[in-house]
Amino acid sequence: MIRDKESFHQFLESLRSFVRERLVPSEDRIARENSVPDQLVEEMAAQHMFGYSIPEEYGGLGMTMEELVLAAMELSQCSVAFRARVGTNTGIGSEGLVADGTVEQKQRYLPDLATGKKTASFALTEPEAGSDATALRTTAHRDGKDFVLNGTKCFITNAPIADLFTVMARTDLDNPGAGGISAFLVERDTPGLSVGKPYDKMGQAGSPVSEVHFENCRVPAANLVGGLEGHGFKTAMKVLNKQRIHLAALCIGPAIRMFNDAMAFVAGRKQFGEPLMNFQLIQAMLAECQTEIQASKALVLQTARQRDAGEDVTMNASICKYFSSEMCGRVADRCVQMLGGYGYIADYGMERFYRDVRLFRLYEGTSQIHQLTIARHSLKQAGYRVGK
Ligand SMILES: Cc1cc2nc3c(=O)[nH]c(=O)nc-3n(C[C@H](O)[C@H](O)[C@H](O)COP(=O)(O)OP(=O)(O)OC[C@H]3O[C@@H](n4cnc5c(N)ncnc54)[C@H](O)[C@@H]3O)c2cc1C
Repeated sequence: MIRDKESFHQFLESLRSFVRERLVPSEDRIARENSVPDQLVEEMAAQHMFGYSIPEEYGGLGMTMEELVLAAMELSQCSVAFRARVGTNTGIGSEGLVADGTVEQKQRYLPDLATGKKTASFALTEPEAGSDATALRTTAHRDGKDFVLNGTKCFITNAPIADLFTVMARTDLDNPGAGGISAFLVERDTPGLSVGKPYDKMGQAGSPVSEVHFENCRVPAANLVGGLEGHGFKTAMKVLNKQRIHLAALCIGPAIRMFNDAMAFVAGRKQFGEPLMNFQLIQAMLAECQTEIQASKALVLQTARQRDAGEDVTMNASICKYFSSEMCGRVADRCVQMLGGYGYIADYGMERFYRDVRLFRLYEGTSQIHQLTIARHSLKQAGYRVGK
């Protein structure tokens, strides 16, 4: 649902200009320096990028799902590091609070996340609990008015720069499943919380990711999300259900960008006395890219509209994330191929996108986990009893 078509159209136009004029020219620098400079972070904050999905009453833009995916498709037509910088605030880092936080918790934290004054992270994954997130071992035991957290989270996006973490921890040691898990809001300067050194990654330079350690980390009971014990995994699933549609849209922007760059390249480069674009095997690759990008767009927009209409989109969110992330990988591969040797050389930028987008198929549910979800939902819908 788009609340006001005319003003939203203007917003998208201005976002498009900002991405082209301010972000794209800084891509090489961000890759070289492995960080997004403060000046650009301030400019992104002035564009309200940190608050897209945060409700207006807490200082955000309160975008609907359809608006959010359309904005994401524009914002992501530049180095992934930019949208990763704002993405935890306007995605997984704030969504637990938006979905299930108490009014006091929202009032306390959301306004600073919406303006980008503070950065949020979402801490679910652990060394022994990746795809099987319910196996998490971080514990939180009640001690008077506090909970005391112990454990380690790994692969946490923006952890090195985060001010606030939504942390999933086990409050009921007798319940080894999802029902024993609760969600906590943990501030960075809480004694007992420490953040590891940023990982050296395959791609997405400028987007810091690290471990987070909790050692007798005392968190006030008031920071239990929604004030409810045993509800944390449901909160995490709500976050991821929405985020998977958002992430699918964030896979489309890089695919559009790579496709446009590849078209410019094949239009300009000649071999055998002809521009590459005149060769039908090159045209086949262009056609495959364009078709898959359009299919992804249609799928994501349809699912976003269904979610706005209050429909259960659990399976469709998985389909969006699975198809769009795999689509982006295929587009990246074809675009490198169309550039020939230049596709492999850093100065041309395509190899950076190729490495950056590889992550899309791994996080927020690997492709295999989404395949399982899609198959199980399909079988259930058809009335079959599915085994484990
Ligand atoms: C750069 C980066 C940033 C991240 N950011 C965050 C973050 O901000 N917050 C957060 O909580 N997490 C984050 N993650 C974690 C991410 O979500 C996990 O890496 C992902 O869920 C996979 O878990 P795993 O790495 O432990 O792999 P595993 O679960 O060990 O999977 C390994 C392989 O086995 C396959 N597999 C597993 N189970 C099955 C099965 N039942 N059937 C078939 N195949 C299976 C997987 O598909 C995969 O191919 C991030 C990861 C990375 C790399």
